[in-house]
Amino acid sequence: MSRIAYVNGQYVNLRDAAVNVEDRGYQFADGIYEVCEIIGGKMVDFPRHIARMQRSLRELRIAEAMPLTSLKVVMQEVIRRNRINYGIVYLQISRGVAHRDHGFPSPDVKPSVVVTAKSLNFAKNQATAAKGVKVITTAENRWPRVDIKTVGLLPNVLARQEARDKGAYEAWYVDADGFVTEGASCNAWIVTKDGKVVTRTAVSGILAGITRAVLIEVLASMQLKLEERNFTPAEAYDAAEAFVSSASQIVMPVINIDGKPIGDGKPGGIATRLRQEFHKFAAIS
Ligand code: PLP
Repeated sequence: MSRIAYVNGQYVNLRDAAVNVEDRGYQFADGIYEVCEIIGGKMVDFPRHIARMQRSLRELRIAEAMPLTSLKVVMQEVIRRNRINYGIVYLQISRGVAHRDHGFPSPDVKPSVVVTAKSLNFAKNQATAAKGVKVITTAENRWPRVDIKTVGLLPNVLARQEARDKGAYEAWYVDADGFVTEGASCNAWIVTKDGKVVTRTAVSGILAGITRAVLIEVLASMQLKLEERNFTPAEAYDAAEAFVSSASQIVMPVINIDGKPIGDGKPGGIATRLRQEFHKFAAIS
């Protein structure tokens, strides 16, 4: 079955889907994106993803491309046309097409909207989570506005490749003060030996993950203690557990950081329970 993408008002075969070479997303990374998990053909936490999308657009002064109800219909239609049961839907909005010039184009230039979706292998993801993953740390080198989910992801691309080159799954950034910020495409968490679940505050240095926000509710319901504070790689090496969170991975246990086994070197009990509980708290629509 050929895959279908939505591009600026049309549903097209993915192999024919294209944007103009003067699209500002292509030339300047002048755009934003969102990724929602799909379960049973439905989007997980759509309202929160859309609220974050609106914030990203506001911060970059990009106009809203279409009413939210229409956007939701388009995303659902892409999921339906691609017959996705379990997977992810990707939304990208750029400032639009204009002759190349760094300053904003005229206000009548319409934002470009692209939606794609793909199936993920549920059993494979579960098997990865059951084994746990390895992480490396790397120096933070991104701009300070990582709270905006922009398509400008070159440092993230390089960090992920560095992780792969070193046989790891993900890279965690470490800021100039020596604290972990987040992963190349996920939020970073540890569990202390006395059972406190620690993640950096969303005030600076990270993207406020939607999965992170839902997990904070899951933790409260499980009567687990949350500490939103900075932590160092050294504290992480010594932690009882570590894990990462994102829409496409939900909770992925981390069993090794920079070559050092975490806890007993197996996925931790809290990370595993959080992964099991998550979807009871997520809004599915
Ligand atoms: N941090 C970064 C840099 C990300 O790219 C992502 C997701 O792509 C996250 C955190 C997790 O955000 P969410 O849980 O909304 O997927």
